Formats: sequence, C-alpha cells, structure tokens
Amino acid sequence: MTREEIAEIEQAPVIGVLSYQGDVREHLVAVEAAGARAVPVNRPEQLRELAGLIIPGGESTTIGKLLTHFGMDQAIRECYEQGMALFGTCAGLILMAREIEGSDQPRLGLMDITARRNAFGRQVQSFETDLDVPDLGGGPLRAVFIRAPYISAVGAGVRVMASFNERIVLARQDRLLAAAFHPELVGETRLHRYFLDIATGKV
Ligand code: GLN
Repeated sequence: MTREEIAEIEQAPVIGVLSYQGDVREHLVAVEAAGARAVPVNRPEQLRELAGLIIPGGESTTIGKLLTHFGMDQAIRECYEQGMALFGTCAGLILMAREIEGSDQPRLGLMDITARRNAFGRQVQSFETDLDVPDLGGGPLRAVFIRAPYISAVGAGVRVMASFNERIVLARQDRLLAAAFHPELVGETRLHRYFLDIATGKV
C-alpha cells in the first residue's frame, strides 16, 4: 500500500454497524465498498469515533432489549444529538420509529414515523421488487423485503423517498435514514453511499 492510499483510508469516515444480530458482515462489506471505514460496534464507548451507525435487520424486540441492556439506547441518542447519522434497515427502521403500532417494545424513538411490523401479510412476508427512488438516480433499486415493516405515518419533517404499493418503505428525516428492506443483500451500494453522504453532510 502506498502512503497516499494509507492516508486516504485514515481520512475516510468511520461507519459503525450494530453487531448484535442480522446481516452485520454484509453491511460492513457494503460500507467499505461505498468508500468508508466500517467497524462492528456493540458498546457505547465505540460510538464516539463514528460519523454514522447502521442498525441492521433482525428481530426488533431482541435488538431493542440488547440496546437497553448495554446502555446503547441512551448513548446512541446522545451521539445522534452530537451529529452522528443513523441508518436503520428493517428491524432497524422499527427501532428508530417514535411509534410502533400496537407495541410498547423498547426503541430509540428518534424518527417521527409510525412503523407497522410484519406488515406485508403472511403469504408475502418475503419478496423482492424494484423501487423507484428519484433521490438516488441511476435507475430502479432492487429491494429485498424479509418479514418487513412499512411506515404507516410520517411527521412533517420526514421526506418520503420510496413507496411500494402505496406503502412508504424508504424515508429520511435530517440525519436519519430508514429502509423497510435489506439494501445490504443486493450487491450494489447506492443506498449505503447515500447514507455516507448524509453522515458527511453532503446531502
Ligand atoms: N419482523 C422483524 C421485526 O419485527 C423485522 C424483520 C427484519 O428485520 N428482517 O422486528
């Protein structure tokens, strides 16, 4: 490696991937491919160096309990206040939501959205589709939904970025990005790059 290449890596923003559950490795790979440094995180003290944090899919009730257990919920809220960006995918979307329909499960509650869990019905709990995401450019975005939620209501400060069958599945509020699907599974990094741009203040 040349000195220039090393300098470039040292300057690259650091994105954490919450590593309790879910597609941690796939998110780490996507973040690196998008041009940032990726680190798995599970403890509050690891948050300090991060420009952004990804909360992967999994089981939102389990991840929520672990966030509370390790004191990560409060630490994430504080780091968000101080400028860190957050990207929640699937269960991560649920955990970022202020409201979760019919549930009082632990959450971060930072984003002014209402999440409906397991919302696409039993027969089609998992499916793939192409989404139109005008903010990304470059054509349709392949999206994998796995027992996915959708966003059933949004507050005034939330930008709806994509819908599927009139259900909101991708939205942004300030430094918060929420996807109902799994962008780490489709072998492209446009959405991870977009998150990196949010985390570095470019969009
Ligand atoms: N159904 C899960 C939940 O409610 C989310 C599914 C996923 O993250 N793939 O937490």
